[in-house]
Amino acid sequence: MTDCIFCKIIKGEIPSAKVFESETVYAFRDINPMAPTHILIVPKAHIPSADGVTAENSSAVAAIFEAIPQIAKAEGLTNGYRVITNCGEDGCQTVKHLHFHLLGGKKLPESMA
Ligand code: AMP
Ligand code: ZN
Repeated sequence: MTDCIFCKIIKGEIPSAKVFESETVYAFRDINPMAPTHILIVPKAHIPSADGVTAENSSAVAAIFEAIPQIAKAEGLTNGYRVITNCGEDGCQTVKHLHFHLLGGKKLPESMA
Protein backbone atom coordinates (compact mmCIF):
# COMPACT_ATOMS: atom_id res chain seq x y z
CA MET A 1 0.00 0.00 0.00
CA THR A 2 1.47 3.33 -1.06
CA ASP A 3 0.56 5.36 2.02
CA CYS A 4 1.61 2.67 4.53
CA ILE A 5 4.71 3.54 6.58
CA PHE A 6 5.73 -0.11 7.05
CA CYS A 7 5.35 -0.83 3.30
CA LYS A 8 7.68 2.15 2.73
CA ILE A 9 10.16 0.74 5.27
CA ILE A 10 10.07 -2.66 3.54
CA LYS A 11 10.72 -0.97 0.17
CA GLY A 12 13.60 1.05 1.67
CA GLU A 13 11.84 4.37 1.08
CA ILE A 14 12.00 5.10 4.82
CA PRO A 15 15.16 4.07 6.70
CA SER A 16 15.04 1.37 9.35
CA ALA A 17 17.45 -0.61 11.51
CA LYS A 18 16.97 -4.02 9.87
CA VAL A 19 17.64 -7.12 11.95
CA PHE A 20 16.18 -9.84 9.70
CA GLU A 21 14.92 -10.22 6.16
CA SER A 22 13.60 -13.12 4.10
CA GLU A 23 11.48 -13.38 0.97
CA THR A 24 8.29 -12.78 2.94
CA VAL A 25 9.36 -11.28 6.30
CA TYR A 26 11.09 -8.05 7.39
CA ALA A 27 12.17 -7.17 10.94
CA PHE A 28 13.56 -3.91 12.28
CA ARG A 29 14.10 -2.08 15.55
CA ASP A 30 11.17 -0.12 16.96
CA ILE A 31 11.92 3.60 16.85
CA ASN A 32 10.48 4.03 20.36
CA PRO A 33 11.72 0.97 22.27
CA MET A 34 9.71 -0.19 25.29
CA ALA A 35 12.34 -2.74 26.38
CA PRO A 36 16.10 -3.21 25.86
CA THR A 37 15.23 -5.32 22.81
CA HIS A 38 12.16 -4.13 20.88
CA ILE A 39 11.86 -5.40 17.34
CA LEU A 40 8.94 -5.22 14.92
CA ILE A 41 8.42 -8.23 12.64
CA VAL A 42 6.17 -7.70 9.65
CA PRO A 43 5.00 -9.58 6.57
CA LYS A 44 6.29 -7.98 3.37
CA ALA A 45 2.78 -8.30 1.98
CA HIS A 46 0.44 -5.62 3.29
CA ILE A 47 -1.98 -7.25 5.75
CA PRO A 48 -3.83 -4.56 7.76
CA SER A 49 -3.91 -6.38 11.12
CA ALA A 50 -4.34 -9.77 12.79
CA ASP A 51 -7.99 -9.42 11.82
CA GLY A 52 -6.96 -9.58 8.15
CA VAL A 53 -5.24 -12.97 8.38
CA THR A 54 -6.81 -15.57 6.09
CA ALA A 55 -6.05 -19.03 4.71
CA GLU A 56 -4.60 -17.24 1.65
CA ASN A 57 -2.04 -15.09 3.53
CA SER A 58 -1.39 -16.99 6.77
CA SER A 59 1.83 -18.53 5.42
CA ALA A 60 3.44 -15.12 5.99
CA VAL A 61 2.40 -15.31 9.63
CA ALA A 62 3.90 -18.78 9.91
CA ALA A 63 7.12 -17.42 8.38
CA ILE A 64 7.15 -14.65 11.00
CA PHE A 65 6.85 -17.21 13.81
CA GLU A 66 9.62 -19.28 12.24
CA ALA A 67 11.82 -16.15 12.18
CA ILE A 68 11.13 -15.21 15.80
CA PRO A 69 13.36 -17.87 17.45
CA GLN A 70 16.18 -16.99 15.05
CA ILE A 71 15.87 -13.28 15.82
CA ALA A 72 15.59 -13.95 19.57
CA LYS A 73 18.72 -16.08 19.45
CA ALA A 74 20.64 -13.44 17.49
CA GLU A 75 19.55 -10.83 20.05
CA GLY A 76 20.68 -13.03 22.95
CA LEU A 77 17.20 -13.40 24.45
CA THR A 78 18.11 -16.65 26.19
CA ASN A 79 15.85 -16.00 29.20
CA GLY A 80 12.62 -15.53 27.27
CA TYR A 81 10.70 -12.74 25.56
CA ARG A 82 7.23 -11.53 24.68
CA VAL A 83 5.48 -11.37 21.30
CA ILE A 84 2.53 -8.98 20.96
CA THR A 85 0.29 -7.79 18.17
CA ASN A 86 -2.10 -4.90 18.71
CA CYS A 87 -5.27 -5.09 16.62
CA GLY A 88 -7.71 -2.31 15.85
CA GLU A 89 -9.00 0.52 18.01
CA ASP A 90 -9.42 -1.39 21.28
CA GLY A 91 -6.03 -3.05 20.76
CA CYS A 92 -4.44 0.42 20.32
CA GLN A 93 -2.98 -0.44 16.91
CA THR A 94 -1.37 2.71 15.49
CA VAL A 95 0.22 1.37 12.28
CA LYS A 96 -2.28 -0.47 10.08
CA HIS A 97 0.19 -3.03 8.70
CA LEU A 98 0.28 -6.29 10.65
CA HIS A 99 3.30 -6.36 12.97
CA PHE A 100 4.48 -8.38 15.90
CA HIS A 101 6.42 -6.69 18.70
CA LEU A 102 9.29 -8.82 20.01
CA LEU A 103 10.18 -7.53 23.47
CA GLY A 104 12.88 -8.72 25.79
CA GLY A 105 16.18 -8.10 27.49
CA LYS A 106 14.62 -7.57 30.91
CA LYS A 107 11.89 -9.06 33.13
CA LEU A 108 8.73 -7.63 31.57
CA PRO A 109 5.70 -6.52 33.59
CA GLU A 110 3.19 -9.33 34.22
CA SER A 111 0.09 -7.39 33.28
CA MET A 112 -0.71 -6.57 29.67
CA ALA A 113 -4.26 -5.21 30.05
P1 AMP B 1 1.34 -0.43 17.31
O1 AMP B 1 0.98 0.61 18.35
O2 AMP B 1 1.22 -1.81 17.79
O3 AMP B 1 0.62 -0.17 16.01
O4 AMP B 1 2.90 -0.25 17.07
C1 AMP B 1 3.46 0.59 16.12
C2 AMP B 1 4.91 0.67 16.47
O5 AMP B 1 5.60 1.17 15.36
C3 AMP B 1 5.22 1.61 17.65
O6 AMP B 1 5.86 0.86 18.68
C4 AMP B 1 6.13 2.66 17.03
O7 AMP B 1 7.15 3.07 17.91
C5 AMP B 1 6.68 1.93 15.82
N1 AMP B 1 7.10 2.77 14.72
C6 AMP B 1 6.39 3.74 14.10
N2 AMP B 1 7.10 4.28 13.09
C7 AMP B 1 8.29 3.63 13.07
C8 AMP B 1 9.46 3.73 12.26
N3 AMP B 1 9.56 4.61 11.26
N4 AMP B 1 10.51 2.90 12.53
C9 AMP B 1 10.43 2.01 13.53
N5 AMP B 1 9.34 1.86 14.33
C10 AMP B 1 8.29 2.66 14.10
ZN1 ZN C 1 1.76 -1.84 4.57
